[in-house]
Amino acid sequence: MNTTVATKFTDLNLIQPLLDRLKELDYKLPTPIQAQAIPSVMQGHDLIAGANTGSGKTASFALPLLQQVYELKKDKADNTSNKGNFVKGLILVPTRELAKQVSDSIKSYANHLNGAVKTVCVFGGVSINPQMLALRGGADIVVATPGRLLDLISSNAVKLDKVKTLVLDEADRMLSLGFTDEINELLALLPKSKQTLLFSATFPEQVKALTKELLKDPIEIQLQSADASSLVQRVFTVNQGQKTALLAHLIKEHQWQQALIFVNAKNGCEHLADKLSKRGVFVDVFHGDKGQGARNRVLDAFKAGEIDVLIATDIAARGLDIEKLPVVINYDLPRSPSDYMHRIGRSGRAGEVGLALSLIDHEDYHHFKVIEKKNKIRLEREEVEGFEVDQSLIPKLDKPMAKPEGTGKKKRKKKSDQTPDVWLNGTDSE
Ligand code: AMP
Repeated sequence: MNTTVATKFTDLNLIQPLLDRLKELDYKLPTPIQAQAIPSVMQGHDLIAGANTGSGKTASFALPLLQQVYELKKDKADNTSNKGNFVKGLILVPTRELAKQVSDSIKSYANHLNGAVKTVCVFGGVSINPQMLALRGGADIVVATPGRLLDLISSNAVKLDKVKTLVLDEADRMLSLGFTDEINELLALLPKSKQTLLFSATFPEQVKALTKELLKDPIEIQLQSADASSLVQRVFTVNQGQKTALLAHLIKEHQWQQALIFVNAKNGCEHLADKLSKRGVFVDVFHGDKGQGARNRVLDAFKAGEIDVLIATDIAARGLDIEKLPVVINYDLPRSPSDYMHRIGRSGRAGEVGLALSLIDHEDYHHFKVIEKKNKIRLEREEVEGFEVDQSLIPKLDKPMAKPEGTGKKKRKKKSDQTPDVWLNGTDSE
């Protein structure tokens, strides 16, 4: 493995049209993940890349992929050129919004390739017909959510037999239980010989085991911890039943330019929105029960800064790039420790200063400890003036229960220790 880390984009052997575009975008230097991943991808290696969300992962695979496809198209012997609905590069992502974001980034990076690379984005929740039309004559790069891609394959709108590079973005989620059947079906349709790239901020152990079957002598890049300094994490304790009041207080007091608040259930979003509006805080909501049109409108408005406070489920937890988002608040704690990392990664992106707040009441104490343990963090519990907690409850709930007299010494396995890393929430199956 080549361990030299390039410090300039011009050291990465990128073609001039890509370099010109990076200059236009004011990307001065490659981020650490770009500096390490781009050479490996260009050399054709399989890759397992773990880097903090917001650290420039998209360009790490998009730039070399664009370059590979561009060069391949110049090669007369290339047998995937636009006949028979073939695809050269396939990028699979867990949510519709992320599909659109990744595809938009690729199209932007390809700006000076004079339309030589055709990128098509496909996801569910919208009419399939325009996507079928877009795929007519093949595509060089397809960005897709798995369910809709399978629908398009069964209508013969696209064929995967000549894919040269497969990217799983948010790979831990793509390899988790929620996607098993779809991913297995897709993998069976892909050629055996191909380059496979896995990118994610987190790789829980169960997922790492699965990657062994998927990758050939992969290069591993792990940059998570070295790179996380611009995000401050804080935990506020609060009495049960007081979370909404504390949240409304924090929003009014801090006057953040924008805030993204996570809850665990779709109806929880609406419920919290109602409660906040009664306290004079007006918010929008983003969850999987909303139509795709409404989802797009809300997200675009939030990204454009037209919405100040957004309450969302975990469909907003992964990959979404919201520029200069000052704060993410966990109103409900995420069920899985890795989702905690993904949620908080919406703030503090691309080296910006960010803040991640978690509001925990007595019932959340144990679970927050598990989140801390799995993510190897330890945060000081803080109180907000006017919302002091009933301390008498904390020792009872925060410490393991005292053993009744006379019982043996066998350690009780706490329920919270069994919380699995990989859950099914926060994805679009189509
Ligand atoms: P990503 O992690 O790919 O979602 O990227 C996060 C943000 O960083 C996006 O807004 C990118 O446009 C931006 N970005 C990616 N690479 C660079 C770079 N080398 N220099 C400056 N900004 C970058």
